[in-house]
Amino acid sequence: MTTVGFIGLGQMGAAMAANLIKGGNQLKVFDINKDAVDNLAAQGAIACSSAAEAVSDVGFVITMLPNGALVRDVLLGGGGVAAAMPKDALVIDMSTIHPLETDALIKDLAVQDIEMMEAPVGRTSDHAVAGTLLILAGGTKDQIARAQPLFDLMGSETVDAGGPGKGIRVKIINNYMSIALNALSAEAITLSEKIGLEFDTAMSVMSGTPAGKGHFTTTWPNKVLAGDLSPAFMIDLAHKDLGIALDLANQVGVPMPMGAASRELYNISRVSGRGRQDWTAVLEQVRDLSGLETKA
Ligand code: NAD
Repeated sequence: MTTVGFIGLGQMGAAMAANLIKGGNQLKVFDINKDAVDNLAAQGAIACSSAAEAVSDVGFVITMLPNGALVRDVLLGGGGVAAAMPKDALVIDMSTIHPLETDALIKDLAVQDIEMMEAPVGRTSDHAVAGTLLILAGGTKDQIARAQPLFDLMGSETVDAGGPGKGIRVKIINNYMSIALNALSAEAITLSEKIGLEFDTAMSVMSGTPAGKGHFTTTWPNKVLAGDLSPAFMIDLAHKDLGIALDLANQVGVPMPMGAASRELYNISRVSGRGRQDWTAVLEQVRDLSGLETKA
């Protein structure tokens, strides 16, 4: 039986810890919210009154906390975990924190001969309850293999992100994209209603196009990723259509900050001589401005 010290029993952590118990592991749990600890104890966990107590004699230490400052404090600060845990236990931070904080924690724990990997999760608290999270594992192959039986109880899919610190990087990029797209989608669907479209019609049309499906699996593979910038739909025309939508939004009174910002990117692309290239060349433009080699 594996013993796991689990710290942070909120919306996500409580469900994840419960699934580890159901899978036959012994859980020692701590949260500053005593009700959360009692709730897990009722499901078979050993209730602890400090993080340090929760990590004595364990094989793994899992943290699922709101932010990086708290993870650092629990592991290396007042929480006293690093001093109290066995040196051969593996720390797995599953919180969503700043990647540079993850890098620093891995380095600072290594100084104390403690190994840490990160495994932030994708999906929602419903998936945490169902044990179907997406586990984005950042660690050595050995660390991931060691933690895999635990991951299999909390999630339905584990991605080896490619090394220490890479799990949290892919998590942040994934969240960046879906969070920004959420805002853009809200603008678009609000504008469609304001100009008289049926909500369901707009949703149905956009669900079948790159608007709703995204570009990675629709427009990019055969064009910019294949090094082909000959226009299937050119930047000049995309810039024109974006302008019409923004003008319309100004006339009917819908705020479109995401669209306005992206028009500038198309504008910069045109100014840089890409007006007659395929619209997927915006990827080339951003790579160029960021000092990366272009794809085509
Ligand atoms: P939450 O606020 O519900 O839970 C955090 C828990 O940490 C709380 O129970 C809190 O009491 C506890 N805590 C705070 N400080 C502590 C300390 N010093 N010692 C011990 N316990 C402490 O948050 P959540 O939704 O469970 O999210 C946890 C992490 O998972 C966050 O980093 C979040 O970004 C990430 N995440 C959340 C979701 C989601 O859908 N909620 C999805 C993916 C990732």
